[in-house]
Amino acid sequence: MRRIVSTHYHPGVTVDAALDRIVAAWDHVRERFGAYSLVLPGTPSFICQPNLCTAHCCNAFSVNLGEAEAARMTRETGMALVQFLELEDGDPITLPLAQPFLLAREGGHCRFLGPELGCTVYTGRPNACRLYPHFVVFVDDATGKVTTPSPGDARRALNALLAGQPLSPVPLLLGHAECPGFTGNPLAGASWRTLLEVTYQLQYEGL
Ligand code: SF4
Ligand code: SF4
Repeated sequence: MRRIVSTHYHPGVTVDAALDRIVAAWDHVRERFGAYSLVLPGTPSFICQPNLCTAHCCNAFSVNLGEAEAARMTRETGMALVQFLELEDGDPITLPLAQPFLLAREGGHCRFLGPELGCTVYTGRPNACRLYPHFVVFVDDATGKVTTPSPGDARRALNALLAGQPLSPVPLLLGHAECPGFTGNPLAGASWRTLLEVTYQLQYEGL
């Protein structure tokens, strides 16, 4: 579950000139991302409504987390690792992934989903929960392929797009189509830029 992102006004900057390029990049890859929709200025904004979906995301998805996220969970909740991670023989399971831990599940859903469908560890929740239902991918619009740029190139491409002067690769902000929360007012350009920036930071910079 994700809280709606606060918005900031960036005077004088618009992304209008970049929109054609974003849409063209999306046209290259949309079939590969059938479960997602492109989020643009004007797309209905996201408001988490767990009662509409009986907290679909907290039921359906296993959540991975890394060392820093586990440390934040410990700091925010006071729980030891063994109290919030999936265990094997009493120790946290570690998968061969950059985010090796698994958040504990119980009763077919995340252990921390409350009876009123709220998150009971909200301030400590993992980045995947902070991100969802948004996601950023980079598309090389010369080749039409999804790409994983270096951190420096990704940041340069993001900043260029946020300034309305896109480079390649083009960052695309996507929303998971199964989430029913895209029912808010149309995203203003400044709100869209903030959402793209925050989603990018969580996903690529782990902030
Ligand atoms: S699926 Fe969407 S609306 Fe439902 S709880 Fe998750 S984020 Fe909120
Ligand atoms: S930590 Fe909170 S937001 Fe994340 S899956 Fe569990 S209940 Fe849902």
